[in-house]
Amino acid sequence: MDKEKNETQIIEEVSKHYKEILRLLGEDPEREGLIKTPMRAAKAMYDITSGYRQDPLKIASQAVFEHAGSQIVIVKDIEFYSMCEHHILPFFGKIAVGYLPKGKMIGLSKLARIVNSFAKRLQVQERLTSQVCSLLTDSLPNDGVIVMCEAGHLCMKMRGVEKQESTTVTFDYTGKFKEDISLRHEFLNLIR
Ligand SMILES: [Zn+2]
Repeated sequence: MDKEKNETQIIEEVSKHYKEILRLLGEDPEREGLIKTPMRAAKAMYDITSGYRQDPLKIASQAVFEHAGSQIVIVKDIEFYSMCEHHILPFFGKIAVGYLPKGKMIGLSKLARIVNSFAKRLQVQERLTSQVCSLLTDSLPNDGVIVMCEAGHLCMKMRGVEKQESTTVTFDYTGKFKEDISLRHEFLNLIR
């Protein structure tokens, strides 16, 4: 099927559901300020979930370069925005990645695109962290990969418990980072 047409149809259909949701919540979707809202919301949601239509492995394979060093490479403060799969509310924060290269390194901008391709889906923070970690472990020659993710969840801040200052930290690591605690400490020191 023609991809663009398909996209338009999907957004159109999602917007109809948003209109119904507004009605069910007690709004008047026909009032002036809301006329275009279902369509806008549908387009926004389509973009927020664009990771479903991307292939992180493919992105990674286009971004691997020669690199002679073997010392730890760190990229930190990779910003991301995602949606919690339990409440369909945003969680967002920063990801730091470290790896021990083995003849290759990965391009910086591609790293951000890889993070985005996993973040722009319905997610849980733990899975986002380990998906980034295993993708890099599998697509880049390395002796170990470590990923730390720090995020605030609007489902915690806005509703119920209202733990407004809380952040959640998740970790995953492979290879030498698993065997050697001092390497994990080195990573943590370097990203602080
Ligand atoms: Zn949630």
